This record gives sequence, structure tokens and C-alpha cells, in this order.
Amino acid sequence: MAMRVEIATGLIAELLALAAADPDREVCGILYGTPSGTDPRIDGYTVAANVAADPTTAFELDPAALFAAHRAARADGPAIVGCYHSHPRGPATPSARDIAGAEPGQFWLILAGTDARLYHRDHDGDFGACTTS
Ligand SMILES: [Zn+2]
Repeated sequence: MAMRVEIATGLIAELLALAAADPDREVCGILYGTPSGTDPRIDGYTVAANVAADPTTAFELDPAALFAAHRAARADGPAIVGCYHSHPRGPATPSARDIAGAEPGQFWLILAGTDARLYHRDHDGDFGACTTS
């Protein structure tokens, strides 16, 4: 059964707008919330620069943004639960690189056009779609 995840009101619309404003590149960032478990939830995000060699077809979160997010999380800041990125041309389904890159317990939100889909890597390695509310 697909995991059900609550997403803060308006968050998807904001991220779709960010992706639409930068239609030639994959936009990306960090997601915060409550990890998979009892009541998984995504509450917020920060935008990270895409430092991939070719940001039109791939994304790589700016390591400085990730470092800052982890440092803030250790200091009782919001918990990191995954990341988001856009597919300027493809559908909102994970590429082979996306599937390979997701770590256990992470949520991956993929944006494409007006579509946004959430995936989760479980601790058995399965990378599956979530239902969202
Ligand atoms: Zn992707």
C-alpha cells in the first residue's frame, strides 16, 4: 500500500511556480518535515542552487545549502526529510539517476508542468510513489 503523506497547504503550488519560472533547468531544494513513520508530513522547503554540470538534464543540490540545512537540523532546526527537483521536459516520474540517488527514508518530490508526485525510498530499498493530502 502506498504511504500517505500530508503536505503543507500551498507548498506544492509554490514549488510548481518556482519550476515554471525556470523552465529550462531543473530546479531543486531541500524538504523539511516529519520523516516516514507514524505521521509523515512535509512542512517546508529551502531552495538550493543546482550545481549539476548540465542543469538542463540533471540536478545536484548545492553542497553548501545541504551542509547549512544539516547544521541547522542538529541545532534543533527543522528535520530534513528529502528533496525536490523539477523535470523541465519529462514527466514527474523518477529517472534511473533519481532512483539510484535516493537514500533510505528520503522523500523525493518531482515536479513537471502542473504535476507533482512524491516518492519514498524505504529501508528495504523500494522506491515507491506516495499518496499525498
Ligand atoms: Zn529527476
